[in-house]
Amino acid sequence: MTSSPRIRTAEKLSGVSYSLRGPLAAQAEQRRAAGQDVLALNLGDPAAHGLPPAREVVRAVRDHLDESCGYSSAAGLPEARDAVAQHYRGKGLHTVRPCDVYLGNGVSELAPLSLHALLDSRDEVLIPAPDYPMWTASVVMAGGRPVHYPCDEASAWYPDPGDVARRVTDRTRAIVVINPNNPTGAVWPREVLDGIADVARRHGLVLLADEIYADFLYEGTRHTPLAQCAPDVPCLTFGGLSKRSRIPGYRMGWTVLTGCRGAGRDYVAALDTVASLRLCPNVPAQRAVAVALSIDDTAALTSAGGQLRLRRDHLCRLLAGLPGVHTVKPHGAFYVFPRITRDRYRLGDDDSMAAHLLHEEGLFIVPGSSLGPVPPGHLRLVTLPPPDVLNEAVTRLGRFLERRRTPGSQKPILRRFADEVPPN
Ligand code: PLP
Repeated sequence: MTSSPRIRTAEKLSGVSYSLRGPLAAQAEQRRAAGQDVLALNLGDPAAHGLPPAREVVRAVRDHLDESCGYSSAAGLPEARDAVAQHYRGKGLHTVRPCDVYLGNGVSELAPLSLHALLDSRDEVLIPAPDYPMWTASVVMAGGRPVHYPCDEASAWYPDPGDVARRVTDRTRAIVVINPNNPTGAVWPREVLDGIADVARRHGLVLLADEIYADFLYEGTRHTPLAQCAPDVPCLTFGGLSKRSRIPGYRMGWTVLTGCRGAGRDYVAALDTVASLRLCPNVPAQRAVAVALSIDDTAALTSAGGQLRLRRDHLCRLLAGLPGVHTVKPHGAFYVFPRITRDRYRLGDDDSMAAHLLHEEGLFIVPGSSLGPVPPGHLRLVTLPPPDVLNEAVTRLGRFLERRRTPGSQKPILRRFADEVPPN
């Protein structure tokens, strides 16, 4: 019997990975299936950590299922696009009309669409490092070349617009900005955004602003929409209900076009074409948009005494109790990106550190190396779980590090955090 020929896979996929759901996630799944415990702090899914959506949002979908069986128009239902346009006008983007809004099955669908409409083979896109890896992967899948610009841990994880400008070539087409940032939790200030907008303006680039965490801000931190800094530059602002309304499973997001009315007209036509190829976004989930945007319940979670604020503070305090673990406190989103000092611990590279953490301690967190070119020793943890889960996670991380302490390097760190409670 001849064996069937091996199926050759697309070359364009080499180098494409999405670590948050990659091989490590598969190993975590296997452990779970084998009855072993896994403490997962890998995914930014609020619903999975006891932070459910508002009941009205769920009801809006349920009450309209009967009318949601057919396709909608390719960019989405008029009332949902209208609600998104109104939302952004309320944020100071006064020119946004419903026709500037494209709905989609999450930012994860719209980001690749927007890149397919833009890129020819080997065109370059500037992407922050660390990155939310969907962006790097989407650029590669669209035939482009990701070029990362570093965000500096020593400067609160902000990038330097001058450095961004130096990376522009005659193949550069767009700049991605993720603000508030995943994984660092940094909220880039106006002057950094103005600097990046200016690079785009001078070089005729498109701005791709992933602002899905715009509602998650701590301690009065202000978020400036990138489009506000560049009303004259083609800018796509991405957002959605996955985080804001805590319904990632419904798959509903949008991109909003600004600065596209003159030179951006051809691009809008290209976007219309690729958007229509997928027929339409998920219609039941579009029913949630207007109701979800009329509810503003994230401030209650992120302000003093709010669940997200308490959990972020608690995790930062626990991590600060581990010698040699340094964390820049996040001012937005719901991640921390600590660095483990490598002269204190024998750790190997980030991938092996994360794999050993999973196999020795059942703790599943994302290695920094899978979030773009970043200095070694970083890990991404979600701040979403309740305090007792965070206690357990940091206890496991501490136990793991203790076993790798370089001889005579520092005081013992083994400590159980089981009884830690966040101050109210
Ligand atoms: N953009 C960023 C920065 C994210 O962190 C995530 C999910 O974690 C997404 C986009 C994906 O969003 P969606 O659920 O709308 O596809």
